[in-house]
Amino acid sequence: MAQAAEQMLEFNFEGVKNPNEYIELIKMFLRPSEFRVSDGGTGVSPPEALLSGGDKNAVKRFLFDYLVSACGLAERKPEWGILTGVRPVKLFGELAAAKGRDAALALMKDAYYLSDKKIELVSRVCGFQREHTAPPPQGSVGLYIGIPFCPTRCEYCSFPSNQSPYSEIEAYLEALNKEILFVSTEMEKKGLFAETIYIGGGTPTTLCEQDLDALLELVNTCFKTEGLSEFTVEAGRPDTLTDGKLDSMKRRGVKRISINPQSMNEETLAAIGRDHSAGDVVQAFRIARQAGIPVINTDLIAGLPGEDATGFERSLGEIIELGADNITIHTLAVKRAARLKENDAEYNYNRAGDAALMLETAGRELDKAGYEPYYLYRQKQTAGNLENTGYAKDGRFCLYNIRIMEENQTIIALGAGASSKAYFPEENRLERVFNVSNYEIYIQRIQDMLERKKRLLFTPSVQG
Ligand code: SF4
Repeated sequence: MAQAAEQMLEFNFEGVKNPNEYIELIKMFLRPSEFRVSDGGTGVSPPEALLSGGDKNAVKRFLFDYLVSACGLAERKPEWGILTGVRPVKLFGELAAAKGRDAALALMKDAYYLSDKKIELVSRVCGFQREHTAPPPQGSVGLYIGIPFCPTRCEYCSFPSNQSPYSEIEAYLEALNKEILFVSTEMEKKGLFAETIYIGGGTPTTLCEQDLDALLELVNTCFKTEGLSEFTVEAGRPDTLTDGKLDSMKRRGVKRISINPQSMNEETLAAIGRDHSAGDVVQAFRIARQAGIPVINTDLIAGLPGEDATGFERSLGEIIELGADNITIHTLAVKRAARLKENDAEYNYNRAGDAALMLETAGRELDKAGYEPYYLYRQKQTAGNLENTGYAKDGRFCLYNIRIMEENQTIIALGAGASSKAYFPEENRLERVFNVSNYEIYIQRIQDMLERKKRLLFTPSVQG
């Protein structure tokens, strides 16, 4: 969205508490090289009356209006208005519950400055969730298990992803098994059960057939109960899938897998460092269907290097044709840890226009093909500050994805880089409990990790 202003813009945030959220808003309009923030001086400063009023949104609206005018964007305002947060659907749902749907719609427009299109999207997602989900059952938790290994590293990757020798993967699984056993014992003591299980990464299907089967068997033994309603395994790289792994997933009760090509264009796949072809994706779909996996999700990314809107639309058409049950459209986020950032520090800004066009195309084409938007979140540093949206066909959505955005259920996360969220219902608040992200340190310090979980997660007031 950033438009080059005529000159460097200066903001004076002297005496402003927590200026970071305001700086995030400024970054929606301006590249970091186009503005300066000082603690005094003659830069633009929110009026004292707004600052002392304590209404952050009023300060944001002031900055938004100023930036729209300074950047000449009256006709192309940032579509998410003053919202810089990750969960606009949750905000809308809370407003609708407190004040009614019409008032919530009006607030989205007048107080948060969202465009009509984004208001419609948020309200559709919220409506879908209302219709298809009930509040989390008493005593339920979401369970996440991380496998931080992939065959190669994608250029845009900022996740825990390692290309490690087999001996290290084995050592990791040994530590992870300890954590699985520990968590299942603690859950049992507290009368908690898994409503959803999500094995993510990395790419869990990087594991060999034998290791994947052993992991799934252990997960079944420890967590498979009557209350379990969804079991997902990410199989992001199609070239990691085999008949043996699919058979094992089917036998162990996996209901949903994710085959995530991100693009179906061969040049794009090569440019982002994937070691597979579009043909591998077609083959992965074929064998997954043959194996009887009920739900297949596919992720595509808008804004990949060298890919234009026509190429994106072609990929989307091929995925729709393959019959994916869920299609998640991500906007490329290029974070500090991504190799892509080294070549183009302002990539997010440079691809903003293309990404917006791609999301519009995706919404239109998926609508035509009978998919409904069912969950949505935003991330920092996406091209154009745009969103990620999951679409589902015939009501086959991913409950784990919805729960994690609602933030009203404890999420217990296991493995290197996993971040658990303890939910305290009386205070309606979450507390995060982190595992270390480096898998070698995770192996060395597994005992510390378990003790930390015991202390912070399995305390009497935490509830499913
Ligand atoms: S598949 Fe995902 S986790 Fe693995 S390298 Fe690519 S972006 Fe990272």
